[in-house]
Amino acid sequence: MVTSVRTLGSVASAKDNAVRLRPPVRQNDSTETLFHLTQSLQTSLDISRILEMFFEQLQSIVPVRGMVYKNPIAFTQTFSLGKESAHHVDYRLNLQQESLGELTFSRSRRFAEPELETIEGLISALIFPLRNAVHYRQALLSALRDPLTGAGNRAGMDQSLEREILLAQRYEQPLSILAIDIDFFKNINDKFGHVCGDDVLKEVAQSIAEVTRQTDMTFRFGGEEFMVILSKTDLQGASLIAERVRKFIESLQVESHKELIKTTVSIGVSTLHQGDDNTSLFDRADKALYRAKRSGRNRVVTETLPKA
Ligand code: GH3
Ligand code: MG
Ligand code: MG
Repeated sequence: MVTSVRTLGSVASAKDNAVRLRPPVRQNDSTETLFHLTQSLQTSLDISRILEMFFEQLQSIVPVRGMVYKNPIAFTQTFSLGKESAHHVDYRLNLQQESLGELTFSRSRRFAEPELETIEGLISALIFPLRNAVHYRQALLSALRDPLTGAGNRAGMDQSLEREILLAQRYEQPLSILAIDIDFFKNINDKFGHVCGDDVLKEVAQSIAEVTRQTDMTFRFGGEEFMVILSKTDLQGASLIAERVRKFIESLQVESHKELIKTTVSIGVSTLHQGDDNTSLFDRADKALYRAKRSGRNRVVTETLPKA
């Protein structure tokens, strides 16, 4: 069953309540409202859309200024609707042992008890459609993620790169990418075993995301190959970031099964030019990476443009 934790105003007067269907105004009105709300919420699997419909319906019954939905276990995004105000009421949503995150409502004056009862009645119509939408979103996200490192996978990379190129072209902003390959990774597997190799992959992915502050833009597109999309970044900026990544990984000591493993990476950098698409931009970074390998590894090499 759904339980709620209420925090009224800024004072923590939290209590756990089972949310039950309660009459918002009159019995007939409330039954009808809930029926329509349930029906409309079931028409979408998109969390934003479901929250929008819910918020709209809620506002037609109870004056509410803002609503925020967070579900940090499932995803990092926060959904905000309306405008946040001074008085808050928070509901922690749990459904059959599963946490569905937290809903916060706010407005400039305190919520009265009958209003809270109405809100709770409406939440009971939201909870199942929201659960379905959360599951759907998780499935979509995991389809684009590499399970070992948590970085995006090849499909995620293709999708994101295409979108970022379009945005950069539309807003005439720079865009650069890094193609990163672990040096002599085969030796790490041979010397320490595949399991330790996996730990190195995880640490390298984490380090890249940390150094570039681009958790959602780091992708593992091959066995020990990663790509980072750097939006709003020109070639010079990207080279600096690449050098930071290289240095950071060079200084890393990966602890795995009582071994301390050191590693390095080679990095190729390319930046968006007119007429570029996913393939041409990626190819230049990959060629630069190849040159970094040939010229000794553990280094950053920037693109050379094909002769016109
Ligand atoms: P270079 O410096 O030229 O990049 O040499 P390298 O040894 O890193 O390159 P190579 O392509 O010869 O080897 C890549 C290795 O990555 C071979 C493969 O066994 C290993 N590998 C690929 N995927 C995984 C994985 O998921 N886990 C582990 N542990 N190893 C992997
Ligand atoms: Mg490789
Ligand atoms: Mg390699």
